[in-house]
Amino acid sequence: MPNRTIMTILHRLNPRRSLTTRIILVNLTLVLLALGGLVMWAGWRLQKSLIEEVESGLEVRALILANGLREPLQQQISFQEAYEEQTHQEEEKDEATGDEGEHDEVFAPIGNRDFKALIDSYARDLGARVTVLGPDLTITYSSDPRVTPHTAILAPEVVAAAQQKEDHTLREDAWSNEERLFVAAPILGNAGLEGIVQLSIPASHLNERVRAMWLTLISAGLVLTLLFVLASIFLGEQITRPLRQLTATAHRLAGGDLSVRLEMDRKDELGDLAAAFDHMAEEISQLLARERAFVANASHELRSPVTAIQLRAELLQMTSADDARRERYIREIRQESENLGNLLQQLLDLDRAQSSPRPDEEALDIAPCLRKVGDLMQPLAQRAGLTLTTDIPESLPPARLAEQDCQIILRNLLDNAIKYTPAGGRVAVQARAVADDVEIRVQDTGVGIPAQDLPHIFDRFYRVDKARDRTGSGLGLSLVKEIVTQHRGQVWAESTEGAGATLVVHLPRAA
Ligand code: ADP
Repeated sequence: MPNRTIMTILHRLNPRRSLTTRIILVNLTLVLLALGGLVMWAGWRLQKSLIEEVESGLEVRALILANGLREPLQQQISFQEAYEEQTHQEEEKDEATGDEGEHDEVFAPIGNRDFKALIDSYARDLGARVTVLGPDLTITYSSDPRVTPHTAILAPEVVAAAQQKEDHTLREDAWSNEERLFVAAPILGNAGLEGIVQLSIPASHLNERVRAMWLTLISAGLVLTLLFVLASIFLGEQITRPLRQLTATAHRLAGGDLSVRLEMDRKDELGDLAAAFDHMAEEISQLLARERAFVANASHELRSPVTAIQLRAELLQMTSADDARRERYIREIRQESENLGNLLQQLLDLDRAQSSPRPDEEALDIAPCLRKVGDLMQPLAQRAGLTLTTDIPESLPPARLAEQDCQIILRNLLDNAIKYTPAGGRVAVQARAVADDVEIRVQDTGVGIPAQDLPHIFDRFYRVDKARDRTGSGLGLSLVKEIVTQHRGQVWAESTEGAGATLVVHLPRAA
């Protein structure tokens, strides 16, 4: 389908769709404008100096020739005079005798021939027409046989030469009907102007040199333009190839192939873009893996209480169960449904915390909130045989936090402290202002957290001892961390196994 291929190529070359075409067009316009201007300017200057060079070269030659012709011209003139004298005497004699003699060429042609040969050889050497004029501006001899002798030339360069000045003219030649460049120089003897030498070359010689110069310049310009276009294509491809690769990889990623990466080995901005893309793809795949693990863990955690409830319900249906057993099953069903309810509440809280902090959250004085939660947890601590003390100032610097989030934080921390501290122990809540933050500390004298577990206790569904702890879900601390980090705060644990634990929260003060 060659037609389709052409259509595809044309489609790709469309400047609206292709960066390469746009780069080529911009570069080509700039190059044509800049290089075109440069070629025109340089060409014009070169043409001018070329013409000047030819003109002055011809003028110099005319001067040299004029100098060299001084003596031969004087000889020629004396021969001419002698010849004319002799001819005159012959004529007078003939007139007296009535005879018509044949003695014209007796001695004049010898000098004449030498002079003409000299002019012709100069003309050949110079590749120019050499014309010699007398002081009366009439032609004595010309190397070009088409030029009629004894004609007067009153052209500007001849008149200028007669006045010992320099001039040149480019004009139509009467004898050859072509455009020629003329220069002339005076032949100066002891008595002043003895003649003029005129040199001329066809303008076509000059035009040819000018044309050749323009051809070279324009060819160089075109080669440069071509090089620029090739460079633009190369540059365009350098940019667009990785972009096309990026597009294809993004489509594959969107299609569900999370393993694709660009892995481009470049150090430029496109390399940075590719590295950012790979980083994003890595983050997305890790996020999805975490989400999948979360869903799997959540389902697992939800299934345990549901299975326990189902089992107890089936046992209750059995008629053989006595009252004491029925009572126990009902208690266990209530306990499991409470666990289930707590877990669902934690999942809901986590989902809510994951959405970024609400912009309408107002600055909150967290002291009353902390006191309220402390009071609410007091009965639970007493039931567990613990002493719960609170050290919370009358008021604290405000933090931008919803009251509900403040309650979730302290409730979860206290819940853990009570859960993991054996009867007779102590739990203390402290709050204070430190630097730019408000600090909340929950300290207990419980079992503590093993050093190897400390880095993981804020992970979702992480429990130090799953077998020992049947009531926890492993979500409490991850919920606390989610809320605190969403509010640009920090949370950490300090503990020595067997010697209690301290959970510390820092929340930035509201500006
Ligand atoms: P859970 O709901 O199981 O308590 P958390 O996310 O609140 O889950 O806590 C994670 C784990 O960290 C717990 O399983 C527990 O082993 C440990 N932990 C948390 N707080 C304390 C504490 N005050 N003392 C000892 N261990 C703690």
